[in-house]
Amino acid sequence: MQLQTQALHAGYEKDGQRTMAVPIYQTTAYEFRDVEHAANLFALKELGNIYTRLNNPTTDVFEKRFAMLEGGAAGLATASGMAAIFYAIANAAETGDNIICAKQLYGGSLTQASHTLKRFGIEARYFDVQNPSEIEALIDDKTKVIFFESLTNPSIDVADIAAITKIAKKFGVLTVVDNTVATPVLCRPFEHGVDIVVHSASKYTTGQGLAIGGIMVERNDLVDFIRSNPRYPQFNEGDASYHGLVYVDVPLPLYTLRARLSLLRDLGAVVSPFNSWLFIQGIETLSLRMREHSRNAQAVAEFLEAHPKVKKVNYPGLKSNSNYVNAQRYFQDGMASGLLSFEVESLELAKRIVDATQLFSLVVNIGDSKSIITHPASTTHQQLSHEELIACGVLPGLIRLSIGLESSIDLINDLKQALDA
Ligand SMILES: *Cc1c(COP(=O)(O)O)cnc(C)c1O
Repeated sequence: MQLQTQALHAGYEKDGQRTMAVPIYQTTAYEFRDVEHAANLFALKELGNIYTRLNNPTTDVFEKRFAMLEGGAAGLATASGMAAIFYAIANAAETGDNIICAKQLYGGSLTQASHTLKRFGIEARYFDVQNPSEIEALIDDKTKVIFFESLTNPSIDVADIAAITKIAKKFGVLTVVDNTVATPVLCRPFEHGVDIVVHSASKYTTGQGLAIGGIMVERNDLVDFIRSNPRYPQFNEGDASYHGLVYVDVPLPLYTLRARLSLLRDLGAVVSPFNSWLFIQGIETLSLRMREHSRNAQAVAEFLEAHPKVKKVNYPGLKSNSNYVNAQRYFQDGMASGLLSFEVESLELAKRIVDATQLFSLVVNIGDSKSIITHPASTTHQQLSHEELIACGVLPGLIRLSIGLESSIDLINDLKQALDA
């Protein structure tokens, strides 16, 4: 089935009421038929609902549908994108282990890797996403995960996914990719050898800035990669916290199962059924929206590139952009999503432009249907020194846009008056 069709139907089987809309199962717990039924559910002899921290029928539809869109085996929804990233990493890495991350990551992912994972004894090592050949020298026998973003936020680079997964396969290391900005509509990382995909559902999935959530998806046949792989004893040996369960022997997608049975059970960053329902509504139009976001962003990028006050435009849909080749290779029809940035002469000019826009809202979010403008140097990257700003590509005159679904004519007119003011 095609993605557009899956987005409307996958994962939902109508119950007795035969509702067209997926029902919201707003409940904490579920009644067991009898003691034996309860015991069977806890022993995984039978699958079913126990408690909403572990599973919920509305969330189940969201997970199944999203996993289908990615072309994966199963999904695990979480309370936020950050929780999905943490679970994807903590499922593989423990104290004494290390992970290899792209330098170009979402700010929250950088602090999670450098500071919070460090407190749990997991070391983060960094490579330049523009140069995957740096990865090999960083791998040792304690390396558990290679983590990167398909389309990076905020630096707007496109990863050479196949080059990264090739190195990972050579060493038997799991790859985790954050596909938030590209979405499965534009990019399907599993087709390029990735093992685990994570998302912040708070961005394009909800699409209207309505809710925080995340999801982790595992590829098909991951068990073949993990079985007997010496890097991952936790899947090959009995789980003491689950009466000796050996995950590689269970006929279910094992990465998701272990994340659900241990991480979600014990750490509890569960998504609310209502938010899952909002994400299901968002998914219905995801394909249409991503095309329109990309078309609008392309028009705005071309306008900015031709404007005399603009020094540089970063958008992978532009032929002049260093990521153009990867965007053509990895993204559906070369569409490059709604995120772009541009550079003007000075900090003062950037501030004036941001304040002069009327249609764009000054917000630190992306992926809303309403267009957003941010000035990273004075907000998200305020704590960095001038040298650090230059190093991570956030120049004082850099302005970031998340292009929404308004008419591109109006967006361009607004930027024009702001630039010419
Ligand atoms: C926003 C974002 C996150 C974090 O997601 P939350 O849902 O806000 O926790 C992670 N990765 C990327 C690329 C993001 O844009």
